[in-house]
Amino acid sequence: MIRVAAVTPDSIAADLGLAPGTELLRVNDRELGDFLDWEFLTADEEFLLLARLPDGGVVEYDIERPEGRPLGVQLEPPRIRRCGNRCDFCFVDGLPEGLRETLYVRDDDYRLSFRYGNFATLTNLKPRDIQRILEYRLSPLYVSVHATDPVIRRRILRNPRAPEIIPQLTEFAGGGIRFHAQIVLQPGVNDGAVLEKSLEDLYRLEEIVLTVAVVPVGLTNFSKLDMTREPGEAECRAAAAMVHRFAERALAARGQRWVHGSDELYLNANLPLPPAEWYGDFEQAENGVGSVRYLEQRIAAAGALPPLPGRKIGVLTGAAMARLMPKVLQTLTAATGAKFELVVLENDLFGPSVTTAALLPGRAFRRALEGRDDLDLALLPADAVNDDGLFLDDVPFDQLAQGAPTRVRLSSDFADVLAKAFEA
Ligand code: SF4
Repeated sequence: MIRVAAVTPDSIAADLGLAPGTELLRVNDRELGDFLDWEFLTADEEFLLLARLPDGGVVEYDIERPEGRPLGVQLEPPRIRRCGNRCDFCFVDGLPEGLRETLYVRDDDYRLSFRYGNFATLTNLKPRDIQRILEYRLSPLYVSVHATDPVIRRRILRNPRAPEIIPQLTEFAGGGIRFHAQIVLQPGVNDGAVLEKSLEDLYRLEEIVLTVAVVPVGLTNFSKLDMTREPGEAECRAAAAMVHRFAERALAARGQRWVHGSDELYLNANLPLPPAEWYGDFEQAENGVGSVRYLEQRIAAAGALPPLPGRKIGVLTGAAMARLMPKVLQTLTAATGAKFELVVLENDLFGPSVTTAALLPGRAFRRALEGRDDLDLALLPADAVNDDGLFLDDVPFDQLAQGAPTRVRLSSDFADVLAKAFEA
């Protein structure tokens, strides 16, 4: 059973009288367990829907949906599948106490992998999940492989029952499922020869594995630092060199590079980022792979920006972008005439080793903006807040913006804000 959270006005659902709180029970006699059932079973133009209305009445609707007309049902959020692993580098272990409860949930959910590109390990699948992945053709899925050697993978996941990943991917591939993979690199565990074997095994799966990202493990002051560590410059260089060898091989044989290092890998290795064309369609940009080049492309694609001579604009970000951002800001200065100031923030919630802008707490931004009435505008990274507009430490963006001595905006690619920031 799933429940309606909201109904779009003037939609089919509104015409039928479905209201928030309505329980959606069955479609064409198939029981509804979650949003996937709902989306796939209602994809036809005609179907029978059995629902229990908030007043308790059970109604069967014979629905005919004109092509393209949305049903207009928003569902209550699904119950997230919990993770059965205990990786030494788990982000949840790296959180300080006292943050909002949802941050401490270890999710490992193939449904969110399909829908949002979250990485899953596929270690908690039940026979029914496997059947659904195949029946609904949930492809591509994003899979945390880490190592193809089953013993090493079980050690990384701290899960002795984790199934072997290569047979698992191969079995799904028989049903047409494809994968984006990631390898989170733990020095001394899955780098060197282990990484080479993992890349070789994944490469041999040919079109089954669409892309692979190699990402250095990121830890905080609260992580299990006695169990694992971040790779150093030489280790990142070695991994980047291996990525390049496999990428060149794939390019020669298949016409695309297939494997990429994350931006963090190059930063830690003290190597320049590859050019934009290296990343193909930027399929793992959300995973920090080519995200800087992607940002540059989006700025370029936005076309002409408004002239902003004399304006002083602060760009607040984490240390990871500090080395890369000046070039982006030079481009913006040339395009607008504004003066951009890069404000690099240290993460006082997780510790200085956490340099990603998206993980900066609201209080760090608030502090950085104190007394900054010399700025005409301050741009904050849009991915530092969740869908409710809250930073990781629950500071609401709206509250922060109201209390700031200057105009503050969230921005994904600068162009999204600069075009209208100074309109009346
Ligand atoms: S798979 Fe590992 S890193 Fe991911 S949630 Fe589970 S324990 Fe944490």
